Amino acid sequence: FMEREQEILQVVKEKMPEKRYIHTLGVRDTAVLLAKRYGVDTDAAITAAIIHDIAKYADVQWMRQVVRDHELNPTLLQWGSEILHGPVGAVIAKEQFGIEDEDILNAIRYHTTGRVNMSKLEKIIYVADMIEPNRQFEGVERLRKLAEENLDKAMKACVKHTISFLVATEQCIYPLSIECYNDLMREE
Ligand code: GDP
Ligand code: FE
Ligand code: FE
Repeated sequence: FMEREQEILQVVKEKMPEKRYIHTLGVRDTAVLLAKRYGVDTDAAITAAIIHDIAKYADVQWMRQVVRDHELNPTLLQWGSEILHGPVGAVIAKEQFGIEDEDILNAIRYHTTGRVNMSKLEKIIYVADMIEPNRQFEGVERLRKLAEENLDKAMKACVKHTISFLVATEQCIYPLSIECYNDLMREE
């Protein structure tokens, strides 16, 4: 598997600036820790983590074409690369790397917005993406601590942080992000 990982990383590295690649490695390392902590397959966590942002710098017109060609949700066509890079990244994972595991594909697909009924792997990638060591923002330490203690509480706090950030910066909120937030707030 380690050879496969290096193969994928080589391709991923070419698709992004150095800083984003370092972020990718940070997400991988954090995802491995969380996978071990919460009993998830570490190879699956590594695979999802190293591919998750592969489409981040892809051309938006090209991504829209991928949405049309693969008949993804047409509402995606009204959104920018922030929202497109997850679902398009999942298509690349399948087509270019031959990943068939739906859980890994979903972890990539929903890593930005989340969704309802997320699997442990999906939560791990969402949370690891936010708290990996290179991330610096107010409150990140608390999120890191929560992630060690309880995956669901960490997920809830991370989604709350994202939604608050989007509201504070007056950005549109993608429907799945809101559904994910509602799903988490309804739990327990
Ligand atoms: P990154 O790719 O590692 O930077 O992290 P993400 O994929 O999680 O997020 C990418 C960007 O999308 C971040 O700036 C988020 O704040 C933003 N984002 C997350 N959810 C939404 C949403 O519902 N709407 C909008 N407009 N942006 C979002
Ligand atoms: Fe991303
Ligand atoms: Fe990321």
